[in-house]
Amino acid sequence: MKSVISAKDIEEFIRQGRDLSQLPEDAIITPAARDLLRDLQSNGGRNYHQAPAPAQPVPQTPVTAKPVSATSSPAEIEAFFKSPALEDLKKQICEVGRRLWQRAYVDGNGGNIAIRVGDGVALCTPTLVSKGFMKPEDLCLVDLDGNQLAGGKKRTSEILMHLQIMKQQPRALATVHCHPPHATAFAVAQVEPPTCMIPEIEVFIGRVPIAPYRTPGTPEMGKLVADLVDQHNTVLMGNHGAVAWSHVSVEDAYFKMEILEAYCRTVWVASQLGQPLKTFTAEQLKDLLKIKQNLGIPDPRIGLKECELCDNNEWRPGVTCGVPAREANPAPSTHDPQAESVVQAVTDQILARLK
Ligand SMILES: [Zn+2]
Repeated sequence: MKSVISAKDIEEFIRQGRDLSQLPEDAIITPAARDLLRDLQSNGGRNYHQAPAPAQPVPQTPVTAKPVSATSSPAEIEAFFKSPALEDLKKQICEVGRRLWQRAYVDGNGGNIAIRVGDGVALCTPTLVSKGFMKPEDLCLVDLDGNQLAGGKKRTSEILMHLQIMKQQPRALATVHCHPPHATAFAVAQVEPPTCMIPEIEVFIGRVPIAPYRTPGTPEMGKLVADLVDQHNTVLMGNHGAVAWSHVSVEDAYFKMEILEAYCRTVWVASQLGQPLKTFTAEQLKDLLKIKQNLGIPDPRIGLKECELCDNNEWRPGVTCGVPAREANPAPSTHDPQAESVVQAVTDQILARLK
C-alpha cells in the first residue's frame, strides 16, 4: 500500500467493498480524500461521488514521522523531512519538474513547485536548479513565511508567491509555476484567453485572469496573484508566466499547465485561420459547469445567468490575422509586379478573344 491516499484511492476502496477502517494509519490523506471521508461520514456513504468537496481549511496531514510546525525542534523537523511520506512527495515534485522541462514550460532555472505538507509547512524546489534534473535531496522544507526549515539547497526565491496562494486558498495542496510559451504570450499581450471553446479548460480551469506584472519573488507580486485564487485555480502572471494550484495533488496542478498551454496554442492557431472562432452555447457550458461542480472545482460562473456565461465580447486576439478575410473577387495586390503582369496577361488574352 502506498503511503499517500488520494480521493481516487478511497473511491477504489469503496468500489472493492473494503472497510475504510483498513486504511493504513500512517498514510498521508490528501485534503480531497479527507473531504470525501468527511462527506462519507456525514451521509452514511450514500452519493459520495456527487458531493462537491466543501471549501475547508486543510487539516494537519498525518505522516509517518511526527507532524512538524515552524517551532518544532531541528531533530523533529529532520525526521519529518526524511520520512518515507516526504520522500514520496519529493519524488513527485522531481517527476513534475522533469515533465515541465521536457515540454519546454521552463527555461534555465525557471519555474517552481510546492506541496503543503502539514500545518504551516511546505516542501518546495530549490533555487538555481533546472527543474528537469532535480533530485529528491535537492528539495527544501519551508514555513509559510518562507523561512527554510530543512534541505541542503536554498529554497526558490519565488516560493513567497506559492505560500501566499496557500495562505489565501486553504484548499491549495500543491502549486506549480512555469513559463509555457503560448500561455506566457497571452500574459505578455495582456490578452485573457477567451472562453467556451474547448471543454477541458472549462471543466478543469475556467476563466484565467491576468495578475499585473511585479518583480518576481517580491511579496507584492505574490499578493496580486493570491488575490485571484479564491475564484480561480490558474492565473496568468503579466509579462512572466502562469501558476496553478490543486486541491488534489502536484500532478493535478501540473495538468492545469498542460491544459492551459494547449488551449492558448490552439486559440492562437485558430485565430490565424481567417474565420471567426466558434464557441459552444451557454447551455452547453452549463453542462460542463455541472460536471465541474461535482468535481469540487470552484468557478465564479456557477450560478451566473445564461447570457453572461459565454460572453467573449471583450476578447481581442491581439494579433494581426495572417489570413485575409475572404472576398467575392479578391483584388490583386497593387504592390506585386509579378501578380500584376500575370493579371495583365490574362486580361489581354480575354480582351483579344472578345475582339
Ligand atoms: Zn517565473
